Amino acid sequence: MNASLSYADRLKADVETLLRCSGCFGSSLSITDQFTLCCDSCGVTYPIDKEAEICSLLISYRNTDTKENIRSFWGDLYKQLYADIDGSITSNQLSDQLSDLEDMFVKRQHLAAVEMPLADLAGKKVLDIGAGSGAHSCLFRKYGADIVAVDLTPERVLSTAKKLSLVADGQGIVYQADAEHLPFRESSFDIVYSNGVLHHSENTEKCLDEVYRVLRPGGQAIIMLYARHSAVFWLNIFLRGLLSLRFFYQKEAHWVGYLTEGKPKFRGKRNPVTRIFSRGKVATLFSRFDEVSMRRSSFQLDNFAIPKLTQVRCWVYESLGINPHPGGILVYGRPYMCETPFELRLGKLIGWCWNIKARKPISDTGSAEENDEVAP
Ligand SMILES: [Zn+2]
Repeated sequence: MNASLSYADRLKADVETLLRCSGCFGSSLSITDQFTLCCDSCGVTYPIDKEAEICSLLISYRNTDTKENIRSFWGDLYKQLYADIDGSITSNQLSDQLSDLEDMFVKRQHLAAVEMPLADLAGKKVLDIGAGSGAHSCLFRKYGADIVAVDLTPERVLSTAKKLSLVADGQGIVYQADAEHLPFRESSFDIVYSNGVLHHSENTEKCLDEVYRVLRPGGQAIIMLYARHSAVFWLNIFLRGLLSLRFFYQKEAHWVGYLTEGKPKFRGKRNPVTRIFSRGKVATLFSRFDEVSMRRSSFQLDNFAIPKLTQVRCWVYESLGINPHPGGILVYGRPYMCETPFELRLGKLIGWCWNIKARKPISDTGSAEENDEVAP
């Protein structure tokens, strides 16, 4: 696609070739004279904000209280971590921060640097599910990917749209959408990337069905999910679950959710859902895929449930001359104390993250399962 396309032209191209209705799943959409997206089959309309360059493809009757809480929590966390930085970021600053981010990803052996084929992204159609504040999508766009980002949280959709508009090359567009009902047609993407997002859905299985459906045959899923048998879970979250008694009266996804991702300081909502996966469960989730690889990562000496341990770890490392990495600013809102080589080695055994790479079978040319739900 031509890199000089305006937002309206890009959206029009997506309406013709990529998007589908989140309600009836039909692909006959059009943009009205009032610049609203309309489904010609079921009549549902979707708002477009031309100024902010975002379009919401959510549909009200698929909303749930849990999804509302997810939006609220991640919106709060966005305001706490990124809103100040995002407000004034310039194209040059973003460019410098993306270079720092990539350097940090390489040092941390991150999904975006190890599994994601950055040098081979030019011209590839890439979907980033749960784009967050947009940093990963911008990095892929910098490498020439034709990037489509989605997020459930409006603050993060806005942030991603703004950052994508500041990257000089490649294509990029973001939609507000639900990973359980992606608003895209079958076999649309070369790569679907999602870093630490799909375990925050109560129905990760449905999300993976959607990943499979929208991948072209031979396309790759590059996904990070949390690992059950990890130091973070057994030596921290599980113990806190027992001590708080939540273990005894809440569903696992809910008490693990409550105890992960921190506590936002604004509306004070806690994270509603975090699921964790054993190796066997990941294998089941990806059983339809070929060439499935699973790599463990992410262990730090402050993973234990001991108060102030994170501050102690940082203090000790800084005393030894190890400084936080500036690449953390774009993704954590502050410089980040990366893992030492010792921690990286342990991360391969007891790390918190499954870095998963899997290929949709080339032989699957059109048998992708349709959504089994019928629009009301
Ligand atoms: Zn429709």
